Amino acid sequence: MQKNISILGSTGSIGTQTLEVCKEQNIKIRAISANKNIALLEKQVREFKPDFVAVYDEKAAKTLKQNISDTDTKVLAKMEGLCEISTLSKIDTVLTAVSGMIGLQPTLAAIKAKKTIALANKETLVAGGELVISEARKNGVQILPVDSEHSAIFQCLGGKTSSPFLEKLILTASGGPFFGQTKSELENVTVKDALNHPSWNMGAKITVDSATMMNKGFEIIEACHLFGLPEDKIDVVIHRESIIHSMIEYIDGSVIAQMGVPTMKTPIQYALTYPKRLNSKNEKLNLAKIKNLSFFAPDNKAFEAIEICRKAIKIGGTAPLTVNAANEVAVSLFLSGEIKFLEIIELVKSAINNFKPQKVSSLEQILETDKSVREFIKSLV
Ligand code: NDP
Ligand code: MG
Repeated sequence: MQKNISILGSTGSIGTQTLEVCKEQNIKIRAISANKNIALLEKQVREFKPDFVAVYDEKAAKTLKQNISDTDTKVLAKMEGLCEISTLSKIDTVLTAVSGMIGLQPTLAAIKAKKTIALANKETLVAGGELVISEARKNGVQILPVDSEHSAIFQCLGGKTSSPFLEKLILTASGGPFFGQTKSELENVTVKDALNHPSWNMGAKITVDSATMMNKGFEIIEACHLFGLPEDKIDVVIHRESIIHSMIEYIDGSVIAQMGVPTMKTPIQYALTYPKRLNSKNEKLNLAKIKNLSFFAPDNKAFEAIEICRKAIKIGGTAPLTVNAANEVAVSLFLSGEIKFLEIIELVKSAINNFKPQKVSSLEQILETDKSVREFIKSLV
């Protein structure tokens, strides 16, 4: 049966690779979306002929509507547009690849409409994990991981999210561009340095998160939600070559690893073809050529983000959401040259100290807390 999907964030790194996978595997794209990159959206509309394109930025949506008036694709706008393409009757899966917790509302809408979620957008689980998972359970909806580590664990578990014999998960981390540097060496690193990732070509926000190791902290939280484990059952090991995408350890000490060349097209494809596997043209692994795989313990003194995230998920409630909101603002301030690299973590710590964690009760409460934390961080700079 042919798959029909909507993509949240089709113009980004994950979004464009998803389109390539869909082309290779004959998956029908019913809807695409972005914030405001309408030049690329127009190209994608003309190539993939989706029924709908949603543009978050209202002005950009109007311009796109004029520019593609000769096509059959309907243009939607704002959050309503993103939610509408996530609930179309013709689709079975929504691939979430927007950057940031802006993906939360459309993901919840998709879950309520009983669509399978192929999830790349980890901030959605960091900010609203408790709500998302409980809604998914209530609606019998599967959340299939696209993030390479979580896809690896899911594959190690044989396409399941749990095992009675599981001892722990071992997330691998590339270590980012600043691996091995001390805190004082990180003092004056630039945006260009932070964007120079050793093994992955990703959007700017997640690349900075990889440099601070916040990405790995978020992935611990993401794994807690996806695999129903406490954070102390999730280890992190630095693995510079990014060949082992993560591992699981069973109670008898046996460790299973998932490996492959570092391309996101493999986890994207698995999430879209699950439970089947299809041939792919992706480069295949040649271990004799790679020769060595190396492993190191993370340096939690120079890079505090992992410990911050462990604490936040242990506290639960709005604590992870506070970390995420503060981090989103801080990273964008760093990218625009307004703060230094190490200030990202300092700002996140200020938010944690200023906002008392609350129990999560509703989407509205999440959105309100998110807004207050963002305003607080902006007021500090
Ligand atoms: P990019 O920055 O490359 O792309 C982000 C996408 O989100 C773009 O299409 C962008 O549109 C869209 N977007 C941003 N804001 C909005 C908005 N308000 N409304 C609608 N669309 C919006 O990010 P990545 O592809 O690198 O990452 C996407 C997600 O996947 C993140 O959550 C990231 O953590 C996760 N991820 C990414 C990996 C990777 O290899 N890149 C690996 C694992 C996870 P526009 O172009 O108009 O700005
Ligand atoms: Mg990852």
